[in-house]
Amino acid sequence: MQKNALEILKEIEKHGYEAYIVGGFVRDYCLGQTSLDIDVCTNATPKELSLIFKGAIVPTETYGAVTLIYKKTRYEITTYRKDLKYDDYRRPSQIEYVDSLIEDLKRRDFTINTLCMNSKGEVIDLLNAKSDLEQKIIKTVGNPKIRFKEDVLRILRAVRFATSLNFELSDDVKQAIIDNKNLLKNLSYVRKKEELTKILSNPNAIYGVSLLKSLGLDKSLELTNLSNLKIVDDILGIWAQLDVLDIYPFSNVERDAITKIKEALEEPNIDNYSLYKYGLYIMIIVASIKELDKKNLTKRYASLPIKARSDIKLDVDQICKRLNIKPSYWIKDIYQLLEKEITNGTLKNSQSDICEYISSHLKQYQ
Ligand code: ATP
Ligand code: MG
Repeated sequence: MQKNALEILKEIEKHGYEAYIVGGFVRDYCLGQTSLDIDVCTNATPKELSLIFKGAIVPTETYGAVTLIYKKTRYEITTYRKDLKYDDYRRPSQIEYVDSLIEDLKRRDFTINTLCMNSKGEVIDLLNAKSDLEQKIIKTVGNPKIRFKEDVLRILRAVRFATSLNFELSDDVKQAIIDNKNLLKNLSYVRKKEELTKILSNPNAIYGVSLLKSLGLDKSLELTNLSNLKIVDDILGIWAQLDVLDIYPFSNVERDAITKIKEALEEPNIDNYSLYKYGLYIMIIVASIKELDKKNLTKRYASLPIKARSDIKLDVDQICKRLNIKPSYWIKDIYQLLEKEITNGTLKNSQSDICEYISSHLKQYQ
């Protein structure tokens, strides 16, 4: 991937422009880690880039940035620029293309994200980023109070990078976060959720949570139970504990799972019926939160006599025939009873046993 990216830089240079790999890739490279995406910066404009890479350039919604598809991989290329004016505490509303790399680096968020790599594969460090990397510290480029006000997303990015890299936040960054955290109300819940997901699903999430708490960001982000949060592998298990279902955006599938996890967490113990009702996926998450034995749970689930309503040996028609009734809304009550009895082992899942049970227990439905 790096080899291909250097080819891109050379191709741009061949046309008389400058180009560097910038940001996360170079930062991670210096730390001996592999990075999944590569960002490139250049003094060529999007128009000029589309002439260099004919047909391979896709404009992005960000002004001054394009996506290049090169050898089946996507690269984000941005033109050197200066952000002139910020709107809504988020995106710059006005930018100006500039011709010097250092000018472009100065608009970037953190020093550690300003490292560049040239087409020879050499690391270029114009803003003393390497020393911050070595000291494992997150510092903003310039005054953090100004930089967080310009774009409040940077507050969450600071916590995210501190978490994923296991770095400290510099004292002035911490203070500026505390002073500006109220501005997070201006950030969309989509962006908040995205950054929080990265923080809370990171292997170092415990540190991330301690940062969020010590900076008082739990209130600003409307996270109710952060102090009691149990970090688990599945992010839905984390959202379920934080009580944000009505605030943050979730897909219907996520919503359904979170609701079930919350409900199952309320159950005093996990009997076979709840295992059956919620299913293994939900109950494994619940077991991680409650620190219960997951292997045992999986074994118990595997030996359930039924896994779904359709596994019951008597279908709706047969039940109705047996009770001499027409299908009605309470057929679901009957099913629920059967499911409870069968999963808890008090009724055998055989036609004859279920018929007998219906005749002797369910006369009231006739
Ligand atoms: P990741 O490992 O998540 O990709 P990254 O540092 O590459 O980390 P990106 O979101 O890919 O982060 O952004 C690429 C670069 O653009 C960053 O390294 C940083 O220099 C700059 N950048 C991104 N977001 C901002 C922002 N909100 N404000 C200032 N600079 C930013
Ligand atoms: Mg990146």
